Amino acid sequence: MAQVPATCTTCGATTHVTAATTAAAYERRDYLLAHGGVTCTDCYYAAKKAEAADAATKFAEDNALPALTGSDKQIAWANTIRLKKIAQIDAVCVVSSDAPAELADHIAKAVAAVKAQADARYWIDNRDADVRALVRAAAGA
Ligand SMILES: [Zn+2]
Repeated sequence: MAQVPATCTTCGATTHVTAATTAAAYERRDYLLAHGGVTCTDCYYAAKKAEAADAATKFAEDNALPALTGSDKQIAWANTIRLKKIAQIDAVCVVSSDAPAELADHIAKAVAAVKAQADARYWIDNRDADVRALVRAAAGA
């Protein structure tokens, strides 16, 4: 692999572009500069993080979820965890249409109770928890 120096278009840091040969690396660098620019590793991950935060915020708004409480860092982290957990809950906690209405109602209330958790710490502490266990705990069973 060959590397050629490049300047990050976003922050101005010195970075490099990698390709199989030096000529290909220069070609790739020129291509990147002509199509949106060169991004250093730090800016790449910062952009990914911002994208995930935006997706989590949009998800919270679309699903009428409560604003999380905690430190800014906790909230940012918990928001992305909550997004994943709720997607899992919606995939896993599906009540069959022939289930008794009382059971369906009980599960719906438990799912709603989990989704209503506004403490960032709840989502962080339960980031590795099985969503069935979270719903069961919320149902008091
Ligand atoms: Zn950069």
